[in-house]
Amino acid sequence: SGAPQKRRLTILGSTGSIGTNTLDVIDQLGGRDAFEIAAVTGNGNIDLLAEQAKATGAELAVTASERHYESLKSALAGTGIEVAAGRSGLIEAAERDADWVMAAIVGTAGLAPTLAAAERGADIALANKECLVSAGDLFVRAVAEGGGRLIPVDSEHSAIFQSLEDDQRHAVERIVLTASGGPFRTWSREQMAGVTAEIARAHPNWSMGLKISIGSASMFNKALEMIEAKHLFDVAPSQIEVIVHPQSIIHSMVGYTDGSVIAQLGCPDMRTAIGYALTYPMRTKLDVDRLDFAKLARLDFEAPDEVRFPALRLARTAMERGGLQGAVMNAAEEVAFDAFVSGRIGFLDMADIAEAIMDRMTAVAPAVSMDDVFAADSEARTRAAEAIAAKERAAGAAA
Ligand code: NAD
Ligand code: MG
Repeated sequence: SGAPQKRRLTILGSTGSIGTNTLDVIDQLGGRDAFEIAAVTGNGNIDLLAEQAKATGAELAVTASERHYESLKSALAGTGIEVAAGRSGLIEAAERDADWVMAAIVGTAGLAPTLAAAERGADIALANKECLVSAGDLFVRAVAEGGGRLIPVDSEHSAIFQSLEDDQRHAVERIVLTASGGPFRTWSREQMAGVTAEIARAHPNWSMGLKISIGSASMFNKALEMIEAKHLFDVAPSQIEVIVHPQSIIHSMVGYTDGSVIAQLGCPDMRTAIGYALTYPMRTKLDVDRLDFAKLARLDFEAPDEVRFPALRLARTAMERGGLQGAVMNAAEEVAFDAFVSGRIGFLDMADIAEAIMDRMTAVAPAVSMDDVFAADSEARTRAAEAIAAKERAAGAAA
C-alpha cells in the first residue's frame, strides 16, 4: 500500500501577504510531509521567491517579470527547480497538475492564470477577488465547468461561506459584510484629500499588501467585496449590506428569513480563512491568536457613509448596470491606484476617475466571453490613463 498520496498545491502570488501566510499554514499542517508544491509564483521579489521554492521543494518557480528571469534562474541553479517567467510562465504554473490552487496574485493580473487553473478542474482558493469583480458569472461558470470547487479566502467571504449551510440557501435573506472603516473611518473628505500613500496604507487591524491596504482606506476594497459576494453567493444586490465594525472581530454574517443571524468571528488573521480553504470541509488546528471576549469587552457598529466613501456607491451602480461594469470599475481604479501611489493624483481622485470611466463605458454590451472582459479591462485602462493625464495637465495649467 505505501504512504497516502500527498495533496499537490500551487500558490499563485506566493511572495505576497496572502502567499506567505499560505506557506505558513502549509507548514503548520505538516509542510513537505503532507503536501507537494507544484508551483510558486511571484513578481520582482526574486530572493524571497527562490527561498520559498527551495524551502517547499516546489517543482516550478515563476516570476511574472520577464526581466527577472535570469536572476531567478541563477538563484535556483543546481536545485533542479524549473524556472519560467512572464504571462506564459504564470499560465504554465496554473496548468501544473495541482489539486488545489491558491489564487493570491494582486489585481487583474491574476485573472488569466486563475482561470487556467479553474478550467482544468483545480479547487480554487480565491483571494484574488478581482477575478469575480471583472469576470463575474463567466468566472463562476469556468470553475463549475472545470469541476473544481471555488472556496473563498477573503475573510468576509470565508465568514459567509462558513455561516451558510447548503440546505439553508433558500432561507437566506441578506449577507452582511463587515468593514473596519479603515484608517480614515472618522475623517472628513477635506482631511482625506491631502493624504499620501504612506498614510493611507496604515491599516488599523490587518497587515496586508499595498493595494488592499489603500483599498481599505478608500473602502474601494469593500466595493470589490460587495460584487464578489454577489457572484459567490448568487444573491441580489439589494440583499448585500455593509456595516462598519471597527474591531474586525465579526468577519461577516448571514441573515435568514427566521430573523436569525449567523456570524463567523475570530482575530484578524488571514491564516484562519486560508486554513479553512485548504482543509474544507474539515477544520484543522492552527496556531493563531484566540479571541478573549472579556478583554474585547465590546463590539461596535456604524452605518457606512457613501458620501465620504463613494466607492460603496460605485459598487451598487456597477451591480445595477451589470455587464462589464465590474471589469471597467476595477480596471479604472487599478490605474488610478498606481497614479495615487506614485503621487500623480490625490486620494479622492481614485473614486472620481473610476466613476467617470464607468459613466463613459455604460454602452458596453454584457460580457459573453472572456475576450469581452479583457477588452473592457484594456479600454478602461486606456481611458483612465487619459483622464489622469488630463487631470495633471489641468493642475499644471492652474499652478
Ligand atoms: P501582495 O501585494 O502582498 O502580493 C501580491 C502577489 O502577487 C505577490 O506574490 C506579487 O509578487 C504578485 N504580483 C504582483 N504583481 C503581479 C503581476 N503583475 N503579475 C503576477 N503576479 C504579480 O497582495 P496581497 O495583499 O497578498 O493580496 C493578494 C490578493 O488577495 C489581492 O487580490 C487581495 O485583494 C486579496 N486579499 C488579500 C488579503 C490580505 O490580507 N492581504 C485579504 C483578502 C484578500
Ligand atoms: Mg476582505
